[in-house]
Amino acid sequence: MKNIMFIAPPAAGKGTQAEIIVNKYKIPHISTGDILRKISKEDTEIGNYIYETMASGGLVKDEITYKLIEERLSQDDCKNGFIIDGFPRNYEQAIKYDEILEKLKLDLGYVFVLDVSEKVLEKRITGRRICEDCNAVYNINEDDKKPRIDAICDICGGKLYQRKDDNIDSFQTRYQTYLEKISKIIDHYENRNVIYHIDGNQKILDISRQIDEILNKDGK
Ligand code: AMP
Repeated sequence: MKNIMFIAPPAAGKGTQAEIIVNKYKIPHISTGDILRKISKEDTEIGNYIYETMASGGLVKDEITYKLIEERLSQDDCKNGFIIDGFPRNYEQAIKYDEILEKLKLDLGYVFVLDVSEKVLEKRITGRRICEDCNAVYNINEDDKKPRIDAICDICGGKLYQRKDDNIDSFQTRYQTYLEKISKIIDHYENRNVIYHIDGNQKILDISRQIDEILNKDGK
């Protein structure tokens, strides 16, 4: 069973790595950011609240996030493994996650920490563009990830957009929150032998090769 958690600052490349794992191991990718973004498009009280909170770079209320996570992890497609991404984001969420896993009789599994320098993150975040039709991700600051035609998706011809929170101010808020909270989460997991630090400044394929080696080492 491959239950995988990614801990990484915004734009560290966890989405890309998660996609590679999903295709290879056929397990679902559970991203709290994606789930919340979907709800934020609904014109409801909760949708509007989530939209505003995400745009400011703040965290959505725990009671909402916990309910969404528990519901999602209870589904049958998580029985053979899953990737949890964007959760937990602080110590309290890590404790709650332990409780949810215990309740659902699921293992914590592997915790991958992607370490990336602040400069690299800033460049990635300000250049990130996403296709509004197929969700393909590009980066106008990186030659090998630029779309062929400006603002148009190579794959489906859809229009590319910039995430509302992909700006320097919002990045700084999200990054500082990440740094403040993350060391306590890592400490929480450190003595359980589940943490694997990966150098996220490397090329995409080198990172995924390293992750594969770890996942296949003990055949868990
Ligand atoms: P992400 O796509 O992981 O960068 O998340 C985007 C935004 O979604 C965050 O800045 C938060 O506003 C919200 N969010 C995602 N995960 C969580 C979480 N575990 N707890 C609270 N808010 C979250």
